[in-house]
This record gives sequence, C-alpha cells and structure tokens, in this order.
Amino acid sequence: MTVYLVGAGPGAPDLLTLRAARLLEQADIVFYDALVHPDTIALAARAQKVAVGKRCGKHSTVQQFINKRLVDAAKRYPVVVRLKGGDPMMFGRAQEEIAALEEAGVECEVVPGITAALAAAAAIKTSLTQRGSARTITFATPRVGATEPDSTWARGLAAADAGAIYMGVGEAALIAQTLIASGKPPGLPVAIVESASLPEQRVRYTTLADLPNFADASVAGPATATPAIPSAQAITQACDTRIAPWRAM
Ligand code: SAH
Repeated sequence: MTVYLVGAGPGAPDLLTLRAARLLEQADIVFYDALVHPDTIALAARAQKVAVGKRCGKHSTVQQFINKRLVDAAKRYPVVVRLKGGDPMMFGRAQEEIAALEEAGVECEVVPGITAALAAAAAIKTSLTQRGSARTITFATPRVGATEPDSTWARGLAAADAGAIYMGVGEAALIAQTLIASGKPPGLPVAIVESASLPEQRVRYTTLADLPNFADASVAGPATATPAIPSAQAITQACDTRIAPWRAM
C-alpha cells in the first residue's frame, strides 16, 4: 500500500516517464487531474479511474476530500496512483497530499514529470538558460487563493533573467503592470505557449507591454473550452538578444 504521486507531463502522452507508465500499468486505482491526457489515463488498463479535477471553486474543501480519498484508497489497494499534470511538485498542491498521507502513516513516493515551463521552452526552441546572459530562472504564478495573503510572485520574476508564469491567463494586465513597475522593460519579449506538446499547441510572441492584448484574447479561444485536453497556457519570458526579433512582432 503505497501512494505514488506521479507526473503525467505537459500533455503529450509520450512525454511520460517509463517509471510513470510502469506504475500506471500496475495501478489498482488512479486519481487523475483535469489536465491529464485521456491516452495517458488509458495506460492504467486494469485500474479504477477516478477524476478529481478541481477547476472550479472551493479548492481547499476539494483538496481535503482528495487527501481523504487517497488515504482511504491506500488502505484498500496495493498500488494507488495520484496522477498530476506536468510535475507533481510544481503548482500541484503535492505537499498537502504528502502531509495527509504521512499523517495517516501511508507510504508515498513521488515520480517527477516534465513541467509545463520546460515543454514551453521546447515549443519555442529557446533555452531558459543561456551562457553569459541567462543564469537564473523563476517559475511563478500570480494566482492567489481567496484566503492567502498577498503574493510576492513578481519579486522573483523581476530579479531573474528568464521566467515562466503558470496560471497567468486572465491576469495578463496585472502581470504586465507589475513587472514593468518592478523594472522589467516594456519591450521585453514574451512568448505565450498554449497547450505545449499537444497537437493544438499554439505559440504567440509579444512584449510585456502588449501582453494583455494577446493573453486576454486567448481566454475565449476554443482550446480553453475543450474538455479533457489542457485549456492551459503558460507564459514564458526571456530577455536575451537571440529572441530580439520578437520585439518586431
Ligand atoms: N503541475 C503542473 C502545473 C499545474 S498548474 C506542471 O508541472 O506543469 C496548471 C497550469 O500549468 C496551467 O494553468 C498552465 O499555466 C500550465 N500548463 C499546464 N500544462 C500546460 C501545457 N501543456 N501548455 C502550457 N501550459 C500548461
């Protein structure tokens, strides 16, 4: 009775690790998030499959319910898989699940996955680190829960050479305004990468100042309404001369 917190990668089923695929084949029960591709879930051929996506409201209640279901499942099944989009340890509330499992005395193991920022970097063929010009990267989200204190999300981005912003859709104006106020140039190139690694992947290039026009337009796009496939966007910014031509766009 072990619960495996498994990263499903950014979307494309073949970006799963071999370890994740093996565990899915062995799983008795799989609890999966909304962002996981159906073909990835299908690898768990003999498992009971439980959707625990929480894309609308009441996040903490839902999270406690998921924690409890994991603990209960661990008492009944030898191999329990908790399948999360990307990497479980990146903006995935993994710590809360790990704490609940440890508290209940349940064995747990984490299997890393490819996080969205790395898939976005691959999509735009731009290294997040670059010799001599980009030595620091920040992964951040401007999203704060209703009960959380004011976030310091912009601090790390302002200080870093490159960054990736998760869950930034709908926050484009705030992102642009805050980062420009923190000293980033308005002309800083920004790539918006939607559904990275999937057939419907879409990349658009803009600047920090123009970001609200691009990112907000995509919120209503068809990709965001497609069930079971990521309605996901990541915004990657980099400040390197190699991508200077973006400024012209
Ligand atoms: N644990 C996940 C992140 C979960 S937060 C990971 O490591 O990737 C969900 C956010 O991730 C989305 O709102 C979006 O910003 C980003 N995301 C997830 N999949 C994505 C994809 N295929 N393309 C672009 N962004 C993605």
